Amino acid sequence: MSGPRPVRAPRGSELSARGWQQEAALRMLHNNLDPEVAEHPDDLVVYGGTGRAARDWPSFDALTRTLRTLHDDETLLVQSGRPVGVLTTHEWAPRVLLANSNLVGEWATWEEFRRLEQLGLTMYGQMTAGSWIYIGTQGILQGTYETFAAVAAKRFGGTLAGTITLTAGLGGMGGAQPLAVTMNGGVVICVDCDPRAIARRIEHGYLDVRADSLEDALRQAEEAKAARRPLSIGVLGNAAEAVPRLLALGAPIDIVTDQTSAHDPLAYLPLGTAFDGMAEEARRDPAAFTARARESMARHVAAMVGFQDAGAEVFDYGNSIRGEARLAGYERAFDFPGFVPAYIRPLFCEGKGPFRWAALSGDPRDIAATDRAVLDLFPENESLARWIRLAGERVRFQGLPARICWLGYGERDRAGERFNDMVASGELAAPVVIGRDHLDCGSVASPYRETEAMRDGSDAIADWPLLNAMVNVASGASWVSLHHGGGVGMGRSLHAGQVTVADGTRLAGEKIRRVLTNDPGMGVIRHVDAGYETAEHVASARGVRVPMREE
Ligand code: NAD
Repeated sequence: MSGPRPVRAPRGSELSARGWQQEAALRMLHNNLDPEVAEHPDDLVVYGGTGRAARDWPSFDALTRTLRTLHDDETLLVQSGRPVGVLTTHEWAPRVLLANSNLVGEWATWEEFRRLEQLGLTMYGQMTAGSWIYIGTQGILQGTYETFAAVAAKRFGGTLAGTITLTAGLGGMGGAQPLAVTMNGGVVICVDCDPRAIARRIEHGYLDVRADSLEDALRQAEEAKAARRPLSIGVLGNAAEAVPRLLALGAPIDIVTDQTSAHDPLAYLPLGTAFDGMAEEARRDPAAFTARARESMARHVAAMVGFQDAGAEVFDYGNSIRGEARLAGYERAFDFPGFVPAYIRPLFCEGKGPFRWAALSGDPRDIAATDRAVLDLFPENESLARWIRLAGERVRFQGLPARICWLGYGERDRAGERFNDMVASGELAAPVVIGRDHLDCGSVASPYRETEAMRDGSDAIADWPLLNAMVNVASGASWVSLHHGGGVGMGRSLHAGQVTVADGTRLAGEKIRRVLTNDPGMGVIRHVDAGYETAEHVASARGVRVPMREE
């Protein structure tokens, strides 16, 4: 049966495939498309503009069929969301290898990608959509929480209490912003042109209220700011209009960022277009739509720069809006920094990044037990403990219960091995998958985001994600993916992902130890190579071998 229908991952400890590695891939593919998880499941779109889990419904059916019958010494090949082959390998090899949206350099443009997509030859995999480890908005929540905590530490004495943040985009990723700001004690105004996005975030507990108008939003924000009361306010509108208007009103905004899907000009609503007519207009004349979207982004970014000139803390939140605005001719687009060089790179130097896991049992008690295990393993890490406690209280699971927390080199393997032991002892009801975002320390080349302003100028060197994927294959990951264009769009990034299954066996324990050591180890190595002292200290203190630093 091929065609749109509701999809949900099987739960429990019974296998429908030949082993847990295959079962895990099957459940995570289905979980990505669970209506609770995916933004537009009927179109197989998980998040991030048009980030898909499978190319089309016949491909989805073939993936499901093949994963159910795949042997422990076979590997399924997936080319941009379509299963294209099954090869005999061995039990240490990944069960699935995926390559999504990759194009040869000179052809790596949205125009060419869309031509090929229309021919049915490719799909956009984003980061965790096409690599089957998206866990809903929580996936980005901790990174967003950490980013706003870093903003608070840098500018506002360690808390956002008494500040107003202005942002736009309440989609799959952007929807984490309101909760991340209020968790840091602040007030936030979030503009989105899609009423469903606002309603969804309120329903999921990520957004507190919806204002009737921009003026109403500002009034509520000012009241909450004065009372130092955390509050998140959604407001319907076009950011290209709302942000300049708030600037003109002299609104007392302290922090400005944006997470509209600006990486894809066909997913950004231009001024003068009604939201309901957007998809049709983009389809009818993509070139004209792109030009208009870029012009609107230029206005939006110019207003962000205006807020910076007025003293606000302003940063690009990884959606390429500066690059698009510059393409429209706005020269000051890069006056404000990206969030990675501004706040995240020191963490990358320690091999830290978005470690995540999901309970294949479907039982939230499994996540509660792993939460306790993490607290027990890293008692000295106070911010981790605060996050785990807040997440336990405030994060509503979407699809299979899951958790994310940022762990570094020498930490991820310990957590992974503990989880595997918990599966083996029966403390958890079923195996756990352990993966991460591609937005990680050693897995991505993305000059507008993760590798912006590298110390040695190596921003666009893309050997690192390729090495990362090969390292994870060589170390025993259960599935490994290599993508192009995630986060920031075509031609602007290459990145790799891995997922490893803790099924309680000794073999899984050995694979986990290698993968979860070597994968963050790539982050340390990458940053040592680029000349970061913190990474050098981490490498020598924790025993990461870097030949050029050895006698
Ligand atoms: P999404 O497509 O799920 O949501 C985007 C939202 O922007 C939608 O709700 C849409 O209605 C809204 N929007 C579009 N144009 C608008 C406009 N002119 N005014 C107001 N609202 C508008 O995307 P997402 O998954 O939330 O990702 C958002 C962006 O962040 C993407 O560009 C993505 O690549 C990037 N991203 C950032 C990170 C990060 O760590 N910072 C991680 C992943 C993705």
